[in-house]
Amino acid sequence: MALPIFTACIGMAAFLAAVPLPVWAQAAPEGPLEISHPVLASSVQRLTEGSASWREALSAIAARGRRAVVVTPDRVKTPMDGGTLAQVFPIADEQSRVGTVLVVINLELLQKLSGLPVTAVDFEDDVDRIIAHEVYGHAIPFLLSGSLAGNCADPAVGQSAVASCVIQRENVIRREIARRGSQ
Ligand SMILES: [Zn+2]
Repeated sequence: MALPIFTACIGMAAFLAAVPLPVWAQAAPEGPLEISHPVLASSVQRLTEGSASWREALSAIAARGRRAVVVTPDRVKTPMDGGTLAQVFPIADEQSRVGTVLVVINLELLQKLSGLPVTAVDFEDDVDRIIAHEVYGHAIPFLLSGSLAGNCADPAVGQSAVASCVIQRENVIRREIARRGSQ
């Protein structure tokens, strides 16, 4: 199925500092990824097994003591637009330093759009692609740099998708996952 093109996955900086982290995430800071939902956890597991680049990135984030919190919209108080499939919120301090990035994935909307059960291979592929885009594409560059300057952008208006930072990163993961699937 053709997913809507991601045009604005990054939340606005002025808004970000005010985004409260879920309480459970604050209480469980171990590891570079905190995940709230079993479908998201399964996807992360597939990406971890299938992609060396993904594994290296997570190790690098862990070594820096930074992390991404990956949740469904019901776990945050963020007023997310119901039509938005996914959004990334770097949590920045006054110096634009980023130690945590909140990634919100609207699984309910994805299911509505796809019409597939969560166990369908095509649905899993869609979730994997979204996680690769949001986490590896957007969140990890913020976390590697530790700053809002690490922003890896979506395609600009008029720019070809493959010329954009985030699509290039997403494609690295998709290639590695595809290789694994064809073995
Ligand atoms: Zn994006």
